[in-house]
Amino acid sequence: MERIYLDHASTSPTHPDVVKEMSPYMSGIFGNPSSIHSFGRESRQAIDDARQTISANIGAKSTEIIFTSGGTEADNLALIGVALANKHRGNHIITTKVEHHAILHTCEYLETQGFKVTYLPVKENGIVSIEDVKASLTDQTILVSIMLANNEVGAIQPIKELSEIVRANGAYVHSDIVQGYNLFPINVDDLGIDLLSVSGHKINGPKGVGYLYVRSGVKITPSLHGGEQERKRRAGTENVASIVGLKHAVQLSNKGRNERFELYSNYKKQMIDIFKQEEIDFSINGDLELTVPNILNVSFAGVSVEALLVNLDLIGIAASSGSACTAGSVDPSHVLVAMFGNGSERIQSSIRFSFGYGNNEEEIRKAAYEITKIVKRLTKH
Ligand code: PLP
Repeated sequence: MERIYLDHASTSPTHPDVVKEMSPYMSGIFGNPSSIHSFGRESRQAIDDARQTISANIGAKSTEIIFTSGGTEADNLALIGVALANKHRGNHIITTKVEHHAILHTCEYLETQGFKVTYLPVKENGIVSIEDVKASLTDQTILVSIMLANNEVGAIQPIKELSEIVRANGAYVHSDIVQGYNLFPINVDDLGIDLLSVSGHKINGPKGVGYLYVRSGVKITPSLHGGEQERKRRAGTENVASIVGLKHAVQLSNKGRNERFELYSNYKKQMIDIFKQEEIDFSINGDLELTVPNILNVSFAGVSVEALLVNLDLIGIAASSGSACTAGSVDPSHVLVAMFGNGSERIQSSIRFSFGYGNNEEEIRKAAYEITKIVKRLTKH
């Protein structure tokens, strides 16, 4: 059975060029980057190169990059690190109800440590209101964390406008750009961002690696204690091979950004056109113009998303729901709840298709027709 992978927002395949570049660092080149001998220097050189490339790519200095084990750690370090290091300035943090759990659960943890967190609502299109951000800022606000693109529905937040308001109020801006990095050119000064999180495995790099950008002058308290790696901000021997992989993923991402944007927009349109042409009942979650092109989150009226996912999996099509299934019970997606309210039928009937490297038009067309067949079958019952 030929399988079709439409779950790139969950994780993306590692690009073969990335694997090739990583391979020497998993065999011949093994020195500890902290060692001063030639073995160590080889590894150190690779990390320095990666840091240089990665920082230049977002208009940052190489000293402003902290390599982490991925997006989750970067988000944790940003929030907890800023909160602890800046508590003398205030104890208030602002975020939105549609952030990834790496942000939301970290904020909940900070609440247990005496910090106050405002979780802003979003409109039906998944986007936060600038007025709400303005109104929630206080003289105690130290940090505002708002993602660039949502991982479930793809909603794009107006980071540039928000950061101007937030920084004028003296608070730092953190943005989780894990889902936006592959599609938008990022410049930390243009966007007015003080901290940002990136994950390797969402951009065809390896899993278990990412980075946090921290603007010079922004104080953070480290979470890991030990050696003096990462300028004492993240102890532990560096994951050299994965950092090299991340560098190549960043370079590849940078190369084809515009083409990718165009290609995925076409895939999205193609899929929607087939749903329309086949006359199935569907609604798109989020505004088409205000969502990333590689994520299509749709609700099929009257269709249980679990049944749909299982039926798709049986024929080799991988997609995803925002809900987490644990031992037979389904947690409703907090993103859809924030957009449509707790009682909305859409929460049970929404599915996310996400496109990426390796997909082609033929696959998208085939998947769209298979989806319509299953939806028609499921709504009949
Ligand atoms: N932030 C967002 C928006 C994500 O989509 C993800 C992954 O799903 C993460 C953070 C976590 O990244 P990682 O899997 O690298 O820990």
